[in-house]
Amino acid sequence: MAPLNKKTIREAAGLMGAAERVYVLSGAGMSTESGIPDFRSPKTGLWEKMDPVKTSSVDALMQDPEQFYRVAFKRYSSLIGTEPNIGHYALAEMEQLGFIRGVITQNIDGLHKKAGTRRLFEVHGHVRTCRCLSCGKRHAMEELLMQLEKDLPLPKCSKCPGMLRPDIVLFGDPMAEDYFAALEALQTDCDLLVVAGSSLSVYPVAAMPGMVSRLIIINLQPTPFDREARVVIQEKCGETLSAILAELKGRPGS
Ligand code: NAD
Repeated sequence: MAPLNKKTIREAAGLMGAAERVYVLSGAGMSTESGIPDFRSPKTGLWEKMDPVKTSSVDALMQDPEQFYRVAFKRYSSLIGTEPNIGHYALAEMEQLGFIRGVITQNIDGLHKKAGTRRLFEVHGHVRTCRCLSCGKRHAMEELLMQLEKDLPLPKCSKCPGMLRPDIVLFGDPMAEDYFAALEALQTDCDLLVVAGSSLSVYPVAAMPGMVSRLIIINLQPTPFDREARVVIQEKCGETLSAILAELKGRPGS
């Protein structure tokens, strides 16, 4: 693989070092280096194998929950044992060192949290918990998994006869509370947004880059916001974010 373009990395680090209020918006491309397929990468993207709108929607869950748990849910449960990659760790360190204020993620895999990011907005939920559709009680995801492993067709709440569902935002669901908190952060507290590994095509999150004055985009493929961005890096998130972190740490006064 060709080495990263040092000039572009310096430019990105220069913008991040000069800005006071930097946030990162990550997408599925952030986690492909952890072995999790995204939706839209050519050949490997899940979209080429199935239609997530059909299989991963509230309608699919409510109309045929047994089928949802037999098929679509396997993709969510497979995320549970995954591990963060160097990109997730670089972002956690950037936050610790004060270079970024937080991470907004579309990912449900929980890898930013595992890597140590503290100010995290998981706008599509996460796979750590589930909740009862009748009484609303939250449970650890293990509660749901244990029942499926015992071959029970539907996971049930331990407090009432209701069915459990994962705490992720399915197509047709309202956005998670974190989404509204992230919107507020972008509108009141952000002068630079770094997009990492997102095609910027899933709304409403895809509207977020349009809310900020300055953008950096790190994504293997072009995005609809590339023209507006100050810097566009078409390289992998992991090595790019690690290189930007190294550059930020090496700058005078940091
Ligand atoms: P997307 O699949 O639409 O786009 C991912 C983008 O990342 C692509 O443009 C691809 O070129 C790029 N990419 C892939 N690997 C990369 C890498 N190593 N470095 C840099 N770029 C890379 O993903 P999206 O924009 O996040 O939107 C899809 C939706 O899919 C989101 O709502 C998200 O919730 C969901 N999703 C999440 C996961 C997860 O939690 N890990 C996985 C698949 C889908």
